[in-house]
Amino acid sequence: MAVESTVSTPPVASPGCEKHAKALEFIEEMTKNCDAVQETVLSEVLSRNAQTEYLQRFELNGAIDRDTFKAKVPIVTYEDLQPEIQRIANGDRSPILSSHPISEFLTSSGTSAGERKLMPTIAEEMDRRQLLYSLLMPVMNLYVPGLDKGKGLYFLFTKAETKTPGGLVARPVLTSYYRSEQFKKRPYDPYLVYTSPNEAILCADSFQSMYTQMLCGLIMREEVLRVGAVFASGLLRAIRFLQLNWKELADDISSGILNPRITDPSIKECMSKILKPNPELAQFITKECEGDNLASIITRIWPNTKYVDVIVTGAMAQYIPTIDYYSGGLPLPCTMYASSECYFGLNLKPMTKPSETCYTIMPNMGYFEFIPHDPVNPIPLSRDSPPRLVDLADLEVGKEYELVISTYSGLCRYRVGDILLVTGFYNSAPQFKFIRRKNVLLSIDADKTDEAELQKAIENASELLNEFNTRVVEYTSHGDTNTIPGHYVIYWELHVRDPENAPTHEVLNKCCLVMEESMNSVYRQGRVADNSIGPLEIRVVKNGTFEELMDYAISRGASINQYKPPRCVNFVPILELLDARVVSAHFSPSAPHWTPERTKRLT
Ligand code: AMP
Repeated sequence: MAVESTVSTPPVASPGCEKHAKALEFIEEMTKNCDAVQETVLSEVLSRNAQTEYLQRFELNGAIDRDTFKAKVPIVTYEDLQPEIQRIANGDRSPILSSHPISEFLTSSGTSAGERKLMPTIAEEMDRRQLLYSLLMPVMNLYVPGLDKGKGLYFLFTKAETKTPGGLVARPVLTSYYRSEQFKKRPYDPYLVYTSPNEAILCADSFQSMYTQMLCGLIMREEVLRVGAVFASGLLRAIRFLQLNWKELADDISSGILNPRITDPSIKECMSKILKPNPELAQFITKECEGDNLASIITRIWPNTKYVDVIVTGAMAQYIPTIDYYSGGLPLPCTMYASSECYFGLNLKPMTKPSETCYTIMPNMGYFEFIPHDPVNPIPLSRDSPPRLVDLADLEVGKEYELVISTYSGLCRYRVGDILLVTGFYNSAPQFKFIRRKNVLLSIDADKTDEAELQKAIENASELLNEFNTRVVEYTSHGDTNTIPGHYVIYWELHVRDPENAPTHEVLNKCCLVMEESMNSVYRQGRVADNSIGPLEIRVVKNGTFEELMDYAISRGASINQYKPPRCVNFVPILELLDARVVSAHFSPSAPHWTPERTKRLT
């Protein structure tokens, strides 16, 4: 049953312009008619894709209604769709999942068998994504007026793209967006003026791209009204970059001559118009950066910043204290919730604290269903008689659900893997807190490492210990974000049979590297190409540490019979216990292998 608005509040300011007024009206219309819009989306998806090989299999016989769809179409995961996706990637252009031609693959940060998932998409999805983007500023303007009077300093990057054997491009969704005509030739909008030139955003060399974006941000520092990146980890990387490179940046500003490390011709050309000698500004930057004091660095350098625009919900919540420290506690609006498979929705109250951030799924973006999430008694998801899932407008406040989507691109009843909590309704559209992504143990940036991947990495690394008659008795892990970039820490308790022949420091360093080589390609890309993850660390702890850990857990109420050592720890007293028992620490001596090419070739 749809619950009428419990949290709808009147806007605090008026729309910025006619375009904004229209966008806000659109949000009202969508959220007031949530269920009807969902019904229309499903009927459109089913009628346009009725002749696809996939839907034909379930004998819908032209039906486009919810009941038939829910009764006949199974709930699937990426692995279930892999045969179809492989055929598309290999060049089969017949309508397999979608009646519209697949325009490219979006490479998700979720992985399957160690490689990024490939999400087929169609050309018109770009417009749908663009539509969601166009709603963000009108909402933000209600809370922070005057954003048309200055610029946004956003650190945005494109990543490597590849081609599938059948010739389709495969790249991350944001790379696809930044390289699109919609982005490159976007009409002037005073609310969407960025300090970063397109040339810098589009440059594939991450150093040159970051350097230029930071340089422009410094040159235009007084015009900057908001600072951001997509995820919090990206902004922290930018601040670290400033900390390491401010001298060279200040030199360029002082002399008006671009650093010779910037060789990209299009960047050089556009910077020739932007960079002029400004010794006074160079002195200011030197004064602010030379002491290595990062407290409130954002507001010291960009004093007119009104908020920091980064996602700090989900796995990114670990970065909130650091961002607060750098920004002196500026608001952290998390504006949208999206994925490679489908863009979902936006935050209608962007100025609330991150711990209270709620996203409203826009019902026009796809057809959304929900599996009630009960980790103790999960619903059996049989392919033959799929359970009836809950519709968007029928969710209950206070309950957790797993998101299932059906998209215009042809994904049907696809499990995204996100767990959401319903916190209220805006009109008849539910609002969600992002709880977590299923099965993710460790995450520093876009990487998502699950328990099985960690276990496999430990097994591979511990093979190096065989010749030392040593084995890993117990292990756990922690994503350490005190370093920038953050890094994985693996705690090992070892059983060394012959202390005379214990594994050496070099061998344990090598174990770190073997673990990294075993990680999925998103992790390795973060290590190699994006420099968003630091070298993996093994901390060897004293014998008996894990027993102490168990004693501690039992003293806090855990059952002795059911106790299992946690495979990832974040609880500070446990981390302190582990760190107090460390006997040696070891780091990867080099980066693991990574190339944009998929190693497991699609056959
Ligand atoms: P990708 O497929 O690489 O685009 O990653 C999409 C996933 O990132 C989503 O399914 C979520 O798990 C996560 N994500 C996206 N937006 C948010 C957000 N605003 N807050 C928390 N997690 C998010």
